Amino acid sequence: MPELRKDPVIGRWVIIASERAKRPEDFKIEKEESPQGLCPFCEGNEKQTPPEIFAVRKSQTKPNQPGWDVRVVPSIAPLLNEKGDLGRRGKGMYDLMNSIGAHEVVIETPEHIANIADLKEEQIAKVIDCYVERFIQLEKDARFKYVLMFKNYGRLAGGGRLKHARSQLIATPVNPKRVKEELVGARRYFEYKERCVFCDIVKQELQQKERVIVDIDGLIAISPFASRFPFEVWILPKEHSCDFFSIKPEHRRDLAGIIKKVMSKLKLTLNDPPYNYILHTAPFRRPKGGYWKTIDLDYHWHIEIIPRLTRVAGFEWGTGFYLNPTSPEEATKILRETKV
Ligand SMILES: [Zn+2]
Ligand SMILES: [Zn+2]
Ligand SMILES: [Zn+2]
Repeated sequence: MPELRKDPVIGRWVIIASERAKRPEDFKIEKEESPQGLCPFCEGNEKQTPPEIFAVRKSQTKPNQPGWDVRVVPSIAPLLNEKGDLGRRGKGMYDLMNSIGAHEVVIETPEHIANIADLKEEQIAKVIDCYVERFIQLEKDARFKYVLMFKNYGRLAGGGRLKHARSQLIATPVNPKRVKEELVGARRYFEYKERCVFCDIVKQELQQKERVIVDIDGLIAISPFASRFPFEVWILPKEHSCDFFSIKPEHRRDLAGIIKKVMSKLKLTLNDPPYNYILHTAPFRRPKGGYWKTIDLDYHWHIEIIPRLTRVAGFEWGTGFYLNPTSPEEATKILRETKV
């Protein structure tokens, strides 16, 4: 019998239809062709991108020249624009505002490597340093409420044809709805139990163990109890922290390590699937609000990784339910057994 499971944070229901049991080999992953020609993200081609905003560089090298390890540039097709004011206004009952924000591309390696799984741990740690640096800078812009880090890998995941590892940062003038749902859910749980829902998840998963994929010093990777998608993985710090960018330098290497491990396991198990991943962290807390009063206590940053193996169809669109043909326990077992 399929099982209905409720996500403890936002209350979303999923149907775990494990009698349709899908194993890795049941998902058809098509090999993507690599395009020929010049890659604007490779070292030596710095002139092909807009001027860099930030880079981790070898000493004595100049901006927009070779000699970098990670490079942040503005998107050439930004979803939001850097200049101007918010211009909040109403048109009858409808609200609108200018599309103000920032949209940056983080080029994760000077080498032409497609998948973050194939980068060295210390290289991934430099990417994390870069995120922290950009979050700190973007927080200074009072127009922004949130920064989302996300990654689209493979064409099916919206990653385009170019096979060079990169992630994106988007700063928005409003809090995204998905994030708000989590913030509200986490606050509600906290008001009721006086505990962080994510800390409780971490605690219970460490006790039960059946959904823990990787358990290292400060972090765990789990298949969430109410996984929406086959082989969905969340990475969470074990110690409570609402803010990703307050991550201590000594913990960045651990985060890099667990990202490398999880992404390598997914790559190997699922034949290099397209995927998305996102970082959910607390919004910028400006002095005015007071709305997110207990956020330091009730919210907990995490990374959600979603291999793109199934398609969202009418049922999901109409209900907000998700149909997942691979139980998280099964996915955990398979990922745990994949040696990387
Ligand atoms: Zn390249
Ligand atoms: Zn917590
Ligand atoms: Zn989340």
